[in-house]
Amino acid sequence: MSVRVVARIRPLLKQELDKDTIVTADSPEGGNNAASPTIVRIPNPKNDTESFSFQFSSVYEQDATQQQLFDSEVAPTVKHLFNGFDTTIFAYGVTGTGKTHTMRGGKSMADRGVIPRLLSGIYRRCRKIEKDTAGATQVEVSMSYYEIYCDRVYDLFESPDKRTPSGLPIRDNGGKTVVVGLTEKPCSTLKEFEHLYDQANINRSTSSTKLNAHSSRSHAILCVKITQTTETTVQVSRASAIDLAGSEDNRRTDNNKERLVESSAINKSLFVLAQCVEAISKKQSRIPYRESKMTRILSLGQNNGLTLMILNLAPVRSYHLDTLSSLNFANRTKKIEVAEVENEAVYRNIVKPLAATTSIGGSTITRQ
Ligand code: ADP
Ligand code: MG
Repeated sequence: MSVRVVARIRPLLKQELDKDTIVTADSPEGGNNAASPTIVRIPNPKNDTESFSFQFSSVYEQDATQQQLFDSEVAPTVKHLFNGFDTTIFAYGVTGTGKTHTMRGGKSMADRGVIPRLLSGIYRRCRKIEKDTAGATQVEVSMSYYEIYCDRVYDLFESPDKRTPSGLPIRDNGGKTVVVGLTEKPCSTLKEFEHLYDQANINRSTSSTKLNAHSSRSHAILCVKITQTTETTVQVSRASAIDLAGSEDNRRTDNNKERLVESSAINKSLFVLAQCVEAISKKQSRIPYRESKMTRILSLGQNNGLTLMILNLAPVRSYHLDTLSSLNFANRTKKIEVAEVENEAVYRNIVKPLAATTSIGGSTITRQ
C-alpha cells in the first residue's frame, strides 16, 4: 500500500481577507470537474504568468471541514489498526499553515482535529470488539506523548521544571528503538485520554516559553498503543500522530544565534524525514532512518502499516517561497510504497512463522 500524501489549504485568516489567494486546488485535466481535486497550483515566484502544479492523493480546499478530512483520510485507518497494522500521521508545513489545527483542532465538537477524532474512533471500536466477542478479546489503550526539540527528547507528561535538560536517552532494545524512561499512561476512555492530552499540551506550551522557543520549533509526537488480548494471543499496534516543527527556512527571516541552532536541528530532521520517505518510495534497501532521532524512534520505513502525510498550506503570497519548498518536499514523498505486514499476534503456545513481506502497488504521480 502506498503512503498517502494529501494537501490541505487553510482558509484566509481574518487579517488576510484583503489578500490574494495564490495557492489553489484543481482537478486533473480531462477529468471530471466535479471530482475531488488532486492538484495544487501555485505561481512561479520568478514569473507570475507561469504556474507549477503538484499532484497529491487528495487536496482539501479552504472550506474542507475537520470532519471531512477525518472521514476520508483517517477513519479508514482505525480498522487497519485493529487488524494489527501501525498508522503514522504527519502534519508537515510552515508555521501558521494549520498543522496544530489539523492534528489537535479547537475545543468545539466541529473544530476537533484528527487526534481526538481518531481516539474517539478507537474507543468506539474497542467497545464493539469487546461486545462482539462477549469480552473474550480485551483491548487496552495507552498513550505516550513527547516532543523532540533540538534533537532532544522530552516527555510531555513530565513537568518542565523536572526535566533533565539533556532530554531522555534513546536505546536499541532487540532491534527496536526505545525512549528510556518515557511515561506510558493507560487511558481507557475518551474522557481520560482528553484529560491527559490537555495536561501534556499545557506542559508543551510552558516548556516552550521557558526555552524561549515557540512550540512550532519542536516536533510533538503522540503514540497510542493498542493491545488486544485473547486467551491465546496478544497483538500490539500503534498509532502515531506527529505535529512537526515548522518547515520554514528560518535563515530567511531570523538570524538570531539560538534560532539558528534550533533551525539547523529542525532542518536536519525534516531533511532526514524527506530522505527516508524518498528511500522508501524508491524501494531502496537502505533507509537512513537512524540519522535523526525522530525517524529513528518512529523506525520510519521499518514498521508495518500505513503512513499519511498531511501537507498544510497557507493560500497567501507572504508564504510563497516556503509553500513552494513544502510542495517540493511533498513531491518526493508521493511515490512512497510501504511494505505492509500485519503485526504478528504473539501466540502464547504456538510458534507461528512470520508472514512474507508484501508490497502492494502505489500510485504514480507526476509533477507537471
Ligand atoms: P501551525 O500549527 O501550522 O503553526 P495553526 O494550526 O496554529 O498553524 O494555524 C494557524 C492559524 O490558522 C490558527 O489561528 C488556526 O486557528 C487557523 N487555522 C488553520 N487551519 C484552519 C482551518 N482549516 N480552518 C480555520 N482556521 C484554521
Ligand atoms: Mg502549531
